[in-house]
Amino acid sequence: MKHHPWIFSGAISRIEPRFAAGDWADVFTSDGRFIAHGWYDEKSHIILHLLSWDEDETMSGKFVQKLAKTSIARRDGMLGEDGTNALRLIHGEADFLPGVAVDIYAGIARIVISSRFGDHFLQDIVRAVQEEIDPERIEAVVDRSYASAENLKAYRRIFINGEEMEKDESFADHLFLEDHLLYSLEQGNVQKSGFYCDQRENRKIAEGYAEGRNVLDLFSYTGGFTLHVLRGGCKSVKAVDSSESALQALMEQVKLNENHGNIPKGSSDRLSAEMADCFEYIRSINENEYDMMILDPPKLAKTKSALENALRAYKDLNRVAMMKIRDGGIIFTFSCSGAVSREDFRMMLGWAAKDAGAEVQILNTLSAGPDHPIRLSFPESEYLKGYAIRVLK
Ligand code: SAH
Repeated sequence: MKHHPWIFSGAISRIEPRFAAGDWADVFTSDGRFIAHGWYDEKSHIILHLLSWDEDETMSGKFVQKLAKTSIARRDGMLGEDGTNALRLIHGEADFLPGVAVDIYAGIARIVISSRFGDHFLQDIVRAVQEEIDPERIEAVVDRSYASAENLKAYRRIFINGEEMEKDESFADHLFLEDHLLYSLEQGNVQKSGFYCDQRENRKIAEGYAEGRNVLDLFSYTGGFTLHVLRGGCKSVKAVDSSESALQALMEQVKLNENHGNIPKGSSDRLSAEMADCFEYIRSINENEYDMMILDPPKLAKTKSALENALRAYKDLNRVAMMKIRDGGIIFTFSCSGAVSREDFRMMLGWAAKDAGAEVQILNTLSAGPDHPIRLSFPESEYLKGYAIRVLK
């Protein structure tokens, strides 16, 4: 069974009859055998998305609702997990809904649309989310990094009880939990859906290595890793990010968790934060200053064509980190680019180690949690890949 859901224009020999963009389209082999039901839109950079390989299926908004509901239902056992109420409910193509990501944060659902398909069926997705989990509020945004490729205008739409609100009235502080740590949900023009819940399992693993270490959390965002290493008993942690508002949220979250007794008293004294370009910053630190580092850069390869340059940037970052870290130090290193395969990433680490003159041991192989499934027929869904490595000089 090979059901990759994307068809590019070059792969289509004939379109008949002519139909409007934004329509269901059946797909056949050149000798007329049915392949799949798809959705066609020539304004999308992927002009045909395949949605069902069952010829008897009836395609409609109702079918999209069904896909969304079954995706949410597959998370049944995960939602009540102890100490966590933030979860991905729909993971795009891996859950059979192209360009549709839905995360829930303790009663607030955020939909991130990165395809014309998702935009077209937004009302159906909102309806399915409302009916399935009845959140107090649903917010939908267009992923800015895909807006131009998909010819979509950026927007932010708010739904309460499934009804769209005219005005976007902001809400009071909204707290959610991940692994017994409190976070305040970012409002306004946030990155992604406001939080990176794909790193949940990896933060727990990092916590286990932190005791007594001086940690550098590069690309810290709002402090998911920082909070965990503080709870894990690190000696110190330095968080660095280029976003001032993310660092501000990080500082507030550390205080909040200290006040709630979720992390040890005095944690704030072990923390420093700095706004900087991490690619530059890592060059400026002294050798042996840190014995644990987290490297979680943004998506460096947006497309396959950007792969080579991206691998160079990943290699440079990792090479410098390996050179600067103390002998025997631990690096948590990640790539969240769908275009970079795990093999590419691991080979890149090999080159970086060679140039840094270090031996490297892989201690843990890291990926996103089970609410971000990897669909075998859509390899791009293995977008988050990482390793915890020990660097021996
Ligand atoms: N580790 C974080 C998620 C990181 S997302 C967590 O666990 O939540 C990537 C982060 O990199 C974002 O916060 C973004 O603001 C930051 N960023 C992007 N480019 C950067 C750069 N050149 N230097 C520093 N930070 C950067």
